[in-house]
Amino acid sequence: MILDGKQIASEIRAELREQVCETKARGLRIPKLAVVIVGHNPASETYVANKIKACEEIGIEAERIALEDSVSEQQLLEVVHQLNNDPSVDGFIVQLPLPEHIAETTILSAIDYRKDVDGLTPENVGRTVQGLPSLVSATPRGIRELLARYNIVTEGKHVVVIGRSNIVGKPIAMLLMQRPYLSLPGMSAASLGDATVTICHSKTRDLAAICRTADIIIVAAGSPKLLTADMVKEGAVVIDVGINRMDDPASPRGYRLVGDVDYEHVAPKAAYISPVPGGVGPMTIVSLLQNTLQAYNEHIR
Ligand code: NAD
Repeated sequence: MILDGKQIASEIRAELREQVCETKARGLRIPKLAVVIVGHNPASETYVANKIKACEEIGIEAERIALEDSVSEQQLLEVVHQLNNDPSVDGFIVQLPLPEHIAETTILSAIDYRKDVDGLTPENVGRTVQGLPSLVSATPRGIRELLARYNIVTEGKHVVVIGRSNIVGKPIAMLLMQRPYLSLPGMSAASLGDATVTICHSKTRDLAAICRTADIIIVAAGSPKLLTADMVKEGAVVIDVGINRMDDPASPRGYRLVGDVDYEHVAPKAAYISPVPGGVGPMTIVSLLQNTLQAYNEHIR
């Protein structure tokens, strides 16, 4: 069965649109997200445009703050402080990557964790690890929501995560191993967690053998066709996070997007599988909207 992230994301957007409408009907101010973009990286420009469009579609106000590549770390920090202190802004993100002369960790650490809708501040990550209410980064939150909406139980299951990045591998591993009392505001009721999690990475020995013992495999490596059919147990759940560009002269853009899974051969063995595109990607954007509303609901009180 296909885990249709596009469909689920559209259902969640409809739910969120309704929540924002109710907020307006009650005469409250509308939620607001600010997005800071530094420089002119074409991929970042596209991501930011998509995020702003997604906000506007559900009635969240979105402000784009564009800064030149030449901005200093100090100037960017000042923008972060202004946003931290601006009561009209519920949440904001600083689009990564940043130019080399700016330390990402310095900038992320300066963001007020209550407005950190990307869930990347050390405070939010630490709170997530400790099982405290937090803003969880968008992709792990989206994966968890996708599993929940398909009623996929993780309790007692062996989950193998391929990839140990701060934005995907580490946080999704943490969320799925946790006791399910960590039910975040705005999340589906299904209790996810209580899994036995193995994290694999580029230095892992015999990845195939480890994957074959998995009930659920989450691949976030950025390597096309890394997960092949011989690595997957019959009936496993496969979540493909990877986004890779493959040259394709037949496509109008000259390329197509593929994941990290050899989809054609893995799909027949999998009980559930998320496609690329249309799986985790749409869930990631919708998670940002959920986080913004979560921050708004906590901010407005
Ligand atoms: P990253 O480059 O920071 O980390 C990749 C991880 O994969 C590393 O920990 C590395 O050790 C591991 N890895 C790489 N090759 C491996 C191999 N052959 N065997 C085992 N482990 C291997 O990447 P990231 O930021 O976590 O992103 C991973 C992929 O997910 C990328 O393709 C990225 O574009 C995609 N992504 C998608 C979304 C989405 O919304 N769908 C969001 C974030 C990232």
